Amino acid sequence: MSGTTVVVIGGGVIGLSAAYHLARRGVQATLLEKGAVGVGSSSRAGGIITGHLWSKTGLEARKVSLRIYHELSEELGEYGYCYQAVGCLNLFSGAAWPECEKLLPLYEACHVPYEILAADEIRHRWPLLRPEADALGLFDPLGGYSEPDEYIPALARKCRDLGVDIREGARVSGIVQAGGRLRGVCVEGELLEAERVVCTVHSWTNQLLGEAGRPLPIKSFVHQRYLTAPLPEAPNLPALNANPYAAYLRPAAGNRILVGGETADRPEFGRPAPGFSMTGLRAPGGFSERLRANARPLLPALERYRFEEERVGLICFTMDGEPILGAVPEIPGLFVGAAFHSGGFAYNPVAGKLLAELATAGETELDIAAFSPARFSLAATDAYLSSKLRQRDAFSRRH
Ligand SMILES: Cc1cc2nc3c(=O)[nH]c(=O)nc-3n(C[C@H](O)[C@H](O)[C@H](O)COP(=O)(O)OP(=O)(O)OC[C@H]3O[C@@H](n4cnc5c(N)ncnc54)[C@H](O)[C@@H]3O)c2cc1C
Repeated sequence: MSGTTVVVIGGGVIGLSAAYHLARRGVQATLLEKGAVGVGSSSRAGGIITGHLWSKTGLEARKVSLRIYHELSEELGEYGYCYQAVGCLNLFSGAAWPECEKLLPLYEACHVPYEILAADEIRHRWPLLRPEADALGLFDPLGGYSEPDEYIPALARKCRDLGVDIREGARVSGIVQAGGRLRGVCVEGELLEAERVVCTVHSWTNQLLGEAGRPLPIKSFVHQRYLTAPLPEAPNLPALNANPYAAYLRPAAGNRILVGGETADRPEFGRPAPGFSMTGLRAPGGFSERLRANARPLLPALERYRFEEERVGLICFTMDGEPILGAVPEIPGLFVGAAFHSGGFAYNPVAGKLLAELATAGETELDIAAFSPARFSLAATDAYLSSKLRQRDAFSRRH
């Protein structure tokens, strides 16, 4: 396999992770990024990582992601990267808890660790938090967070050191096929030949796959997160999906707190143009103050520490809420990884590994039939893409 040429399109965390795992397998990989590495959603992510998902495939995949994150902490340590294993707490109101509780037998069957924490226990462990008396938390002791500003440059540097040819400012304008065979990709009017192509272009997926005759049912929505002014000391907090408060939060570099949230009423973003950049995206007026007000009863410290930085990007969902990862059946040699909802940062270590396995061995260690692009018919895809959704009507999956 070491003689095979593989092109990865997209320099977000999914593409970088695919390139890293390809290089680890001795493959000569070229990564093409139309802007700078990380410029898409990846640098805007909250970076919250949890193994607590809702499907068996998701749970098994995240177990691998968490293991790799812990390993990368060692491996990328020389580049200044460390996975922050502070745990991840999913908070529920008393009324919403029975729905969450239904997942626990699946967690048991998949050997996914968890602790159920009452409000008193949550206050005791993290005195900055003030959950309602009837709230319950499901704690993932292996979860935590990854700082995009540390992880992305560290992973890119590691890829380069492993021999990956990372080309920034290289926009792919098409996937090239001849006689039913994949020939490579077109970059600035030139054919770059490749035996395998891995497409990880997030919201731009249908730009390339639609033109290649295989659109996928993906919708994009604008999403935003904030950083507070620095606190006097590092805040003692877990990564936290504060569902009853329509917010999520975590400690952040520089003694700050990161807080994010969805804009449920916002219509879908539509299909970005090839040259679109996320740097022009903005949150709706007044949203940051509403988010701060929503989260303040849980975290009173937000009264004193205002938001100083906003980052806005896109999150992508499929019509069934699960990611897309697999071979594109109509174009042998083409693989796609996209639509990881608001959890692409958490998925990237395993997603890159699976894409590298597919591009080298044609099969994966995990059963990922539930993520296959082939699960969507063209008719259902067309119907989904013609509909117009708001964020609240799309599959709402957090991290
Ligand atoms: C505000 C916010 C908060 C989030 N919080 C979390 C979180 O807490 N936890 C979590 O797990 N996830 C989170 N996410 C989701 C996560 O950021 C994404 O799922 C993840 O970054 C997707 O990675 P990607 O590599 O697929 O996409 P991207 O990072 O967008 O990368 C795709 C890349 O492809 C490039 N590209 C596009 N078209 C072409 C072309 N034709 N040729 C060459 N290059 C091209 C783009 O420039 C881009 O850099 C959040 C997202 C946002 C916006």
